[in-house]
This record gives sequence, C-alpha cells and structure tokens, in this order.
Amino acid sequence: MSGEVHFERVALIGLGLIGGSLGHAMRRAGLARHVAGYARSEATRKRALEIGFVDSVHASAADAARDADLVVVCTPVGALGAVAAEIEPHLKKGAILTDVGSVKMAVIRDIGPHVPEGVHFIPGHPIAGTEESGPDAGFAELFDGRWCILTPVPGTDEKATEKLSVFWTACGSKVDVMEPKHHDMVLAIVSHLPHIIAYNIVGTASDLETVTQSEVIKYSASGFRDFTRLAASDPTMWRDVCLNNKEPILEMLARFSEDLTALQRAIRWGDGDVLFDLFTRTRAIRRSIVDAGQDTDAPNFGRNPTHPKPAGEGDQ
Ligand code: NAP
Repeated sequence: MSGEVHFERVALIGLGLIGGSLGHAMRRAGLARHVAGYARSEATRKRALEIGFVDSVHASAADAARDADLVVVCTPVGALGAVAAEIEPHLKKGAILTDVGSVKMAVIRDIGPHVPEGVHFIPGHPIAGTEESGPDAGFAELFDGRWCILTPVPGTDEKATEKLSVFWTACGSKVDVMEPKHHDMVLAIVSHLPHIIAYNIVGTASDLETVTQSEVIKYSASGFRDFTRLAASDPTMWRDVCLNNKEPILEMLARFSEDLTALQRAIRWGDGDVLFDLFTRTRAIRRSIVDAGQDTDAPNFGRNPTHPKPAGEGDQ
C-alpha cells in the first residue's frame, strides 16, 4: 500500500509493540517521509533499525522529537511525564503531540503542563494490542479495523484533531472522539478489570497447594487458558495502568465484588434460575461482540498453534 504523505517527520518515542506497529503501519501506507525513533535501551534502538520500521534512531527523546511534525509517545504511562518534560523545549510550533497510553486523565495531568504554546496536544488510545512487547512484537495490521479513541482537551484546534484522525484511519483504525474521563471509566470495565481479574485468578491458581503447577498447565485447555493469555501481559504497562486509573478501577472492582457476592449466594442456595438468567444474558453480549466484528466466531476464538496471535486481538 502506498499513498499520500501525511507528515514530513514523525517521532516515535518508545519502540515496542505499539510504537513498532505504528512504524510498520506508516510504512505500509507511506504516511511519513522520515520516522525518527527513540527507545530507552540501545538494544531496542538497534533492533528497530534492523527491522526497519524507523529511518533513524536517537539516544534521547529530545533528539528524536526535534523538528517532528507529529510526535507519538508510546512509552508506558508512568514514563510520559518525564518524556514530555524532556521533549518540551524541542517541539516544533504547529506540531501535533499525541500518545497511545491506556489511560487518559493521568496522561493529560502529566503531559499537559509540558505542552508549549502553538503545539497541538491530542491524547489518543488505540484499542488494539497483544500480550507481547518489545520491537519484535509490532506488525502493520495491528490497528486494522480496531478503534482508536482520541480525547482532545477543550480548546484543541479542530483541524489538528481532524488531521490526527485521518492519520489513524490511514493506519487502519476506526476513530472515535471521547471525553477523557468517560474513556477511563469505559476502559476500566472493558479492559482494566478483565486484566486485573486474570492476574488475580492466575495468581490464585499458582498459589493453590492442592492443584499442582503441572495440572494447571496440563488441563489449561479449559477456561483458565484464556485468563493466562491476559495475565501474560506486560507487568510495567499494567502496573502503570492500575496506578494511573485508580478511581474508575476501584469503582468497577467494587461493583464486581457486589455482583460476585450475589453469584456466590445463588450457588450456595442452589438458585439455578439466577445462574441461568445471568449466563443467558452474558452469552448474548458475546454474540453482539462477534456481530460487531470485535472478535471471531471461529472455534477456539480463531487461535491455533500456527497463528497464536490473531491481529489486533487482546488488550488495550
Ligand atoms: P512495550 O512493547 O513494552 O514498549 C515500550 C517502549 O517504551 C520501549 O521502547 C521501551 O524502551 C520504552 N520505555 C519503557 N520505559 C521507559 C521509560 N521509563 N522511559 C522511556 N522509555 C521507556 O510497550 P507497549 O505495549 O508498546 O505499550 C506502550 C504504550 O501503549 C503504553 O502506554 C500502553 O498503555 C499503551 N498501549 C498498550 C497496548 C498493549 O496491548 N500493549 C494497547 C494499547 C495501548 P526499551 O525497549 O528500551 O525498554
């Protein structure tokens, strides 16, 4: 695929799964004349150049961001404030500064104070991912058909938001615009809570003395296996998500605990109707997700040993 150049110079700050996938997606559609990359370690910078999803790599975020028309910060959420402080003096007037962080209020809190006059700061979040990380994890199709949510703050230049939206569309995404607070609440239930539950259930299973570790692995073709996939997600990323979306996550966890108590009661008292009603309702939700094209109806959720990582599946 090749098309119109959207930006002369794009800086990718962070060259892991998301930064790498963005580099590949830009290459595929010919969206940038030059992609400058920064990663913390020399190993990642070297690997990104070898794979070829960037044109140049830089040992500092400031050098990568200098003169860029679009700067996309793709580091874990906890690092965004420090990165923004470092690149602030080097951002070009008229540039668009965005990120891909899985939470948005904290990102606005941390990056907002470092946005110079004349730079358009538009927070973003591609709802696409896998449990893999690092520069080798990226692939061009990651964003295809997946949502990307932009959360512009009041007063943001509409033309800049439109330009970023067109860019994400050219990377394969469908774009939505949302209030940042609302984003954090929605993502707390659809993404953050499932990950926390997965981390918890896998942790509980590994702590159980009556079930040996080998039995957990041997019989994991049952429901447990799908939890282990989520629970294999990057610890740094998910630590930062939990620390930076505290209130919405705690609210959703409280609701979840209440509902779990009700379920516990139904099981204890043998209330089959309550169980059947709930399971019927949840089955319909699964159906609407498949109908909306957000997952596959294929047996085994489309996973097989040759394709363990369907494009865009998973986490946010
Ligand atoms: P990743 O594969 O682990 O890559 C992170 C990149 O950031 C690496 O290049 C890393 O450099 C760099 N980095 C890490 N800590 C840093 C620090 N303290 N200062 C500067 N650079 C640092 O992570 P990812 O999965 O691409 O996630 C990146 C962002 O995307 C996160 O904010 C996450 O919330 C968001 N997101 C993730 C997903 C997902 O499913 N993974 C989906 C949507 C959005 P080194 O390699 O040199 O360590």
